[in-house]
Amino acid sequence: MVVTRFAPSPTGYLHIGGLRTALFSYLWAKKNNGKFVLRIEDTDKARNSQEATDAILKAFEWLGLKHDGEITYQSQRGDIYTLYIKQLLDEGKAYRCYMSKEELSKLRETQMANKERTKYNGKYRDFDGTPPADIEPVIRIKAPLSGEIIVRDGVKGDICFQAEDILDDFVIARSDGAPTYNFVVAIDDYLMGINEVIRGDDHLSNTPKQIVIYEALGFSIPNFYHVPMIHNSAGKKLSKRDGATDVMAYKEMGYKPEALLNFLVRLGWSYGDQEIFNMDEMQELFNPKDINKSASIYSVEKLDWLNAHYIKNSSNNELAELLTEYDLILTSHDKKEILLDAIKDRAKNLKEMAQMTKEILNTPKSYDEKAVKKAFKGESITILNAFGAKLSLSESCHLPTDYHNLMQEIVDEMGIGFGKIGMPLRVALLGKMGGPGIDVVMAVIGKDETILRIANAITAHS
Ligand code: GLU
Repeated sequence: MVVTRFAPSPTGYLHIGGLRTALFSYLWAKKNNGKFVLRIEDTDKARNSQEATDAILKAFEWLGLKHDGEITYQSQRGDIYTLYIKQLLDEGKAYRCYMSKEELSKLRETQMANKERTKYNGKYRDFDGTPPADIEPVIRIKAPLSGEIIVRDGVKGDICFQAEDILDDFVIARSDGAPTYNFVVAIDDYLMGINEVIRGDDHLSNTPKQIVIYEALGFSIPNFYHVPMIHNSAGKKLSKRDGATDVMAYKEMGYKPEALLNFLVRLGWSYGDQEIFNMDEMQELFNPKDINKSASIYSVEKLDWLNAHYIKNSSNNELAELLTEYDLILTSHDKKEILLDAIKDRAKNLKEMAQMTKEILNTPKSYDEKAVKKAFKGESITILNAFGAKLSLSESCHLPTDYHNLMQEIVDEMGIGFGKIGMPLRVALLGKMGGPGIDVVMAVIGKDETILRIANAITAHS
């Protein structure tokens, strides 16, 4: 069974780069009827917090990404790690190192002065003397000091590291007994049955060390897929300046979860030239072997395009429900369908959609000066008056077509073009140019509010 994982360190919010590898892992597990598990790497007490873990879980919930089984917290697994450290010590595969901090930094300085790679010199590797009494030892693993370590990577192919270039007997437990990062990752991946590791290629340099640990413990090595980073359009690593990196900021900005997921799945993975993938299709088609070898480029235009697509194709009930998050209660509005049908083709995001809708539903408090200049001239006040009067007498104005017909009557009676009534009416009702069909606006706000807004505009501009 394929078991994948997402293993965030809870230091802040969920980063979109992290979400992308989580999504890849999720899809690959689902495609194979496998499991996608969540491990919180919270061993760094100074940098990790419960709020950060909660923020990650909240983002997962928003996106509808469900992990399988219980969440594993590394902070609760100290005893397990201690057992494996003991095992390696007992087997002579790891040893206590009593080198003091001063001695270690002196060693580093000398190596740097000699332009050598800084590394531990193996002083305590085969030590059988009496250790210094005043030093709490660290535990180091006996790493291979020569030969090759090959990372078989499903994205990048086989990557061959020379042990002497990258390794030394690295620390697996600090002097206070706390196990180190690569040690616990390898142990957990094995114990949690994870056999497919999909993660950012910023972790590629950790992989040889993790392989050393797997081998020392006789664990089978998972398949690795190291995913190239997301870049900005200038080819640099994505930063906050290029766009939000916090997943939940995308919710605030009005993106639909399926748009964000669709956007992320295409950042670094492709299937022909298809751009739109719903969750079922992603699950069916995703394969980590098709992840691109080079970095992907973040494009907010692409995300907006996808979001507009998903908004357009959402049911009005769903949109009304979603818009409540943006301070807009439409759920029981009697013209909800007409309104949302008219707006959902025009909005890039839900926030903008809520804004556009409020601009229709709320009586304008002021009028755009330029629009007024353009719209209120010549006979426009007379035309508005005539339309208002006709509307007052009408008993059957409900739908956009009813309002349209009424406008048509004025056009015919006064022998004017449609723009002559459309433009002043628009500015009277919305306070500015733009927006959906004015007949739709009137149907949505209703007869009384339309008459009121016309009267307000006439008072303000005659
Ligand atoms: N905890 C690591 C991170 O948040 C990920 C570890 C891994 O995927 O192996 O970057």
